[in-house]
Amino acid sequence: MASTNVQSPLKDKLKEVFGYNQFRGNQEVIIQHILDGKNTFVIMPTGAGKSLCYQLPAVMREGTTIVISPLIALMKNQVDQLQALGINASFLNSTLSKSESNRVKKETLEGKTKLLYVAPESLTKPDNIELLKKSNISFIAIDEAHCISEWGHDFRPEYRRIKQIIEEIGDLPIIALTATATPKVRADIQKNLRMEDANIFLSSFHRDNLFYEVHPKKDPKVQLIKFIRKHQNKSGIIYCLSRKKVEEVAEFLRINGINALPYHAGMESSQRMGNQDAFLNEDCDVIVATIAFGMGIDKPDVRFVVHYDAPKSLEGYYQETGRAGRDGLESYCMMLFSPEDISKLEKFHKDKSITERENVHILLQEMSYYAYSSVCRTKQLLHYFGEHVEENCGHCDNCKAKHSSFNAKEQILLALQAVNETEERFGIEHICNVLTGTRTDYVESYNHFDLKSFSKGSEFDNKHWESIIRQSMINGFLAKDVDQITIIRTTEKGKEFVKRPFDIDYTQDYQWPSELEALNEE
Ligand code: ADP
Ligand code: ZN
Repeated sequence: MASTNVQSPLKDKLKEVFGYNQFRGNQEVIIQHILDGKNTFVIMPTGAGKSLCYQLPAVMREGTTIVISPLIALMKNQVDQLQALGINASFLNSTLSKSESNRVKKETLEGKTKLLYVAPESLTKPDNIELLKKSNISFIAIDEAHCISEWGHDFRPEYRRIKQIIEEIGDLPIIALTATATPKVRADIQKNLRMEDANIFLSSFHRDNLFYEVHPKKDPKVQLIKFIRKHQNKSGIIYCLSRKKVEEVAEFLRINGINALPYHAGMESSQRMGNQDAFLNEDCDVIVATIAFGMGIDKPDVRFVVHYDAPKSLEGYYQETGRAGRDGLESYCMMLFSPEDISKLEKFHKDKSITERENVHILLQEMSYYAYSSVCRTKQLLHYFGEHVEENCGHCDNCKAKHSSFNAKEQILLALQAVNETEERFGIEHICNVLTGTRTDYVESYNHFDLKSFSKGSEFDNKHWESIIRQSMINGFLAKDVDQITIIRTTEKGKEFVKRPFDIDYTQDYQWPSELEALNEE
């Protein structure tokens, strides 16, 4: 007979092992997938509960689950928590003594270890490969899987070797997990791990309680103080690019009566940990930090995150601002942006390889366009992660500002025509050049001055056309090529639009920085 209180066996197990009553989001289906031995790809925002997706099946299945994780601190944290629950979990890394590492290896061989955490560097050691070959391994979990992709915000070359090692160990199911993956990064991960067949579990990244705003960086210290005063005595994180700037800003805030402390990797570790604890325990309100701060920090009531310098990518930006408002309450994310910061970031990489420099350039272009654009910030960020939302958020600076919009139907058609006539083989810049009739070397060498669309849009400048193309991407008429992300293609929706065009409003981008400054003054 049906009961109103049916408990699934998985739920019983969840209760028994972790003491939780309910699964969150997709956890249960994901776990079922892993128990069925299928390759699984999980994309879920930070704090949504990714770890449980492999921890519970690891406990339930026979043998040892290998968890590949990039940071020793994160590993230790998880192992401590699991051990506290009475689960046999260990890690193998360079911090272990000889006898400790021998014990871990012995218990793994004997099948006693349920979860074995390893850094990719340890995984690739011949000794360890031998050990794992001889052990009974249930499946492999790859945490922070975006490290596989050069487009991930913290690419780790040794992550690229994981698949080869797994193949040496045996034909094992893989669960890859990450909190930030653009469509390009996703494709890279699947390709590299050869798990194109995997089921993807993509959770929404929408955080309705985060209010985004961008200010042109003019007088940053004064702008910062003004902002913090609006959130007096609330917890906040200020991100700066350099250690020197961190010290300088923290000092400046203290002089101005704000209870702020610095945090960066150049500080002595006891002092750094002390400052982190002070922030967690509310002994200080504001932590001024480099991006070294925040990994694994679980403070629910961070009310604001300020980017004092432009972030390196929108992935990083979303990750860092995502540390605000974990408790679901309104929180504010403010960025001070200047094109000079972008040039500075490009210069940081001037000694790197051409590929790396190009990657950095593309990520920074996306970053800059986010700042310049008048489109709803939330919509832009979600679009970047491949998520389409119909409605504007209503509470970012762009939504609150009443900027002008115009019927873009004819201009969209013209942009689509240019993309089509250049045979979907070029990027935004070239398409803009064609539309405005700018005779660059590229235009000359491809004879693109002969195209029908050439110079058809000369009444507007390149910036305007870039805005049309980008808004067309957000609206799904155009899309980046998944393999070569600098190339723009027409989507099915775009083709449909050409056949049956309709009126659609686009917003006019700001005159940077004057117009945005005026907005922020209000
Ligand atoms: P992520 O790895 O996605 O950033 P975590 O795995 O660290 O997130 O989980 C975040 C928090 O949520 C942890 O404290 C975890 O114990 C808790 N959690 C995860 N799943 C559940 C659940 N089903 N019920 C209650 N708490 C959960
Ligand atoms: Zn908005």
